[in-house]
Amino acid sequence: MKVRAPSVDSRYFDVRKLIHGQGLHTICEEARCPNISECWGRGTATFQILGDTCTRACRYCYVHSGRPSDPPDPLEPLRLAHAAAQMKLKHVVITSVDRDDVPDRGAGHYAATIRALKRKLPEASVEVLTPDFLGVEEEALRTVLAERPEVFNHNIETVRRLHRRMRGAKASYDGALWLLRRAKELADYPVLTKSGIIVGLGETNDEVVETMRDLREAGVDVVTIGQYLQPSAKHATIDRWVHPDEFRWLREQGQALGFGSVFSGPLVRSSYRADEQRHAAETGRGAIAL
Ligand code: SF4
Repeated sequence: MKVRAPSVDSRYFDVRKLIHGQGLHTICEEARCPNISECWGRGTATFQILGDTCTRACRYCYVHSGRPSDPPDPLEPLRLAHAAAQMKLKHVVITSVDRDDVPDRGAGHYAATIRALKRKLPEASVEVLTPDFLGVEEEALRTVLAERPEVFNHNIETVRRLHRRMRGAKASYDGALWLLRRAKELADYPVLTKSGIIVGLGETNDEVVETMRDLREAGVDVVTIGQYLQPSAKHATIDRWVHPDEFRWLREQGQALGFGSVFSGPLVRSSYRADEQRHAAETGRGAIAL
């Protein structure tokens, strides 16, 4: 796999300056995403709210884990909306660390961020990629969906057999499916629901199809499938490199299951070209192999 280095004539350096200048975090940097040159070069990024320290420690994830030292920053939603407006984003993707230390698990902060965005950029659509809101799921979903994000995303990440091993005892495969199903039930507008699967962690292709089937049964509209890249020696080792032909096969399986959009390819990440994923699902363009 090859990725491009940042080019001086792209928007990469402008995006970097703006994000750092506003004291914001992005999952692009925190998770060492391989697509950063391409995405930032196109003038897009995925914002990470609620700080830079996650209260979970998934075995595949590079985001710093520990006990956050600060409560959510009440001015972060405004700074984020300002940055998104400067970037002229038409589709804004927000994710976060897990905040098991905060009573509402960060749901109110998500809501405040969506509100700030809709005020500052009323034409833009908003996609939230949320944590599982452990223990307060129903209230948290109500709080977030009351602000009407166009896309509700929660990544199931891996297949049922590996879920606990990769994500720890707090995370639950069935809990993730419940959250996605319940989001659709609670929304009083046509929300798109979305989830992502990482491959190369020890699963089989048949198990990936089984997970896609579970997601479809939970009413999920959009799915992404991408290759795991081990971010450091301390993280889970790569079990296999999935061949582009297998990604194509998985895409076809997802299409047959009826997803509105399937993005499947080695460098696909949940937020990779998220505007196009949404567009594909809404216009019935369907599956895309990358
Ligand atoms: S794929 Fe997502 S996380 Fe990666 S650089 Fe692009 S926007 Fe950021």
